[in-house]
Amino acid sequence: MNKRGKVILIGGGPGDPDLLTIKGKRCIKKADVIVYDYLVNERLLNYAREDAEVIYVGKKGGEHTLPQEKINDLIVDKAKEGKIVARLKGGDPFVFGRGGEEAEILADHGVDFEIVPGVTAAIAVPAYAGIPLTHRDFTSTVTFITGHEDPSKERSSIAWDKISTGAGSLIFLMGVKNLHNIVENLINNGRGPETPVAIVRWGTTKYQETVVGRLNNIIDLAKEKKILPPAIIIIGDVVRLREKLNWFEDRPLLGKKIIVTRAQAQASDFSTLLEGYGAIPIEFPTIETIPPESWDGFDNAIEGLDGYDWIIFTSVNGVRSFLKRLPLKNKDIRDLKGIRICTIGPKTAKEIERLGIGIDFVPPEYRAETIVEGLKERGIKGKRALLPRAAEARDLLPIELREMGVELEVVEAYRTVKPLEKTNEIRRALKEGEIDVITFTSSSTVSNFVEMFGKEDFPKLINGVVIASIGPVTAKRGEEFGLISDIIPKEYTIEALAEAINEYFIRR
Ligand code: SAH
Repeated sequence: MNKRGKVILIGGGPGDPDLLTIKGKRCIKKADVIVYDYLVNERLLNYAREDAEVIYVGKKGGEHTLPQEKINDLIVDKAKEGKIVARLKGGDPFVFGRGGEEAEILADHGVDFEIVPGVTAAIAVPAYAGIPLTHRDFTSTVTFITGHEDPSKERSSIAWDKISTGAGSLIFLMGVKNLHNIVENLINNGRGPETPVAIVRWGTTKYQETVVGRLNNIIDLAKEKKILPPAIIIIGDVVRLREKLNWFEDRPLLGKKIIVTRAQAQASDFSTLLEGYGAIPIEFPTIETIPPESWDGFDNAIEGLDGYDWIIFTSVNGVRSFLKRLPLKNKDIRDLKGIRICTIGPKTAKEIERLGIGIDFVPPEYRAETIVEGLKERGIKGKRALLPRAAEARDLLPIELREMGVELEVVEAYRTVKPLEKTNEIRRALKEGEIDVITFTSSSTVSNFVEMFGKEDFPKLINGVVIASIGPVTAKRGEEFGLISDIIPKEYTIEALAEAINEYFIRR
């Protein structure tokens, strides 16, 4: 028998991807098909299974790509094929989201469905604008209203006479284009023209923007600030509280554009961290990791694994290459027994620890001297050690280890190359002064970055941009190109780097 399909109407939250519910996330993860709308943050699609079918049915240049009837047909059909369909909507599915209509259709067709409520923009957006919907000193009622109603409609379904005088805070969704009509109706029906109003666009996201005024001047203010949809209009005395409670837009990194120069695979961790501070990360991988030209050296080393006393891993990539090559030589991690392990950097250590393997030495910082000293104390002198690393790594570590008396074998675990895409886009953004910060997380990202833009152009191009380097070694490489780091964290991790950037802008 065919598997029974199902549609799950999921509220995707108001924009901040972290405001998705745990249940919503679980449902996205298991879906065969995901059908999503315009206001859904596309980051949520990262939770989808790799083989899930993902269908966008939202707006395209103001027009809906699929009319509602077609969307209805689509979800019914997919469910009838036995699929689990995640119908992902912005905010909450039952708040002005046509979720009710879709659920009715499903019921009519005898299709199983579930509703996963979401954090509606009607509540979350005012919260991120620092406006409580109710407050004992101001009002104890709140009304959610569609602002979408056609003003030429003969009889409004909105009781303007009642909401103008009989209700406290008014929250209009879909109302920006109708602002004039809304204001007029409210004033004509008795709301004081001095009533405070806030309009919040793209609330809960890094693009959040707010205009505050009064009923009698908000139309001009919104025009001046060019406020477009999607936005929420909040009307009532509670708007006054924003002056004291505006926590989100006050954050120092909000909207700051920060170039992230890590390799693509590792960039997203750092970007997520920066986004947590409200910044807009722009990923510009100056390094791409590819296999070495030849695996011979590495493979030989793996074959003779039992001859080594130590392995020194300097990067996550090195660990990954190692694990990939092991089985090709009929080996696995049990063959590491008896070999002592040193990992450089906390991420590298984590990669090893995940395998359940203990580490004998993690140097407190990435400096050849410190590493050599630490290894010496642990008796590496006279022993055989393996150092898998990038083909083009140039630091002093191997030289100093050999000088100290280690019988060292250096093998190529991967190569780093420069991906050329995106350079022009970044050049334009730099020229137009759109970039606030450039971050460097290794010396090679510095050299690659400078090289990609040309040494001559470079100083002009980055004039006025804040430079943040992960540690002194990276900063020093920058200095060779005339790049003075404004920010160097005390601890050399991406977490500390993100925090230091935030601190820098607080002080500024
Ligand atoms: N079901 C959704 C609302 C859909 S109606 C919910 O519960 O949030 C679409 C309207 O929601 C938009 O026109 C706008 O008024 C509002 N909206 C949705 N997301 C928003 C956001 N991030 N910022 C401001 N308004 C938003």
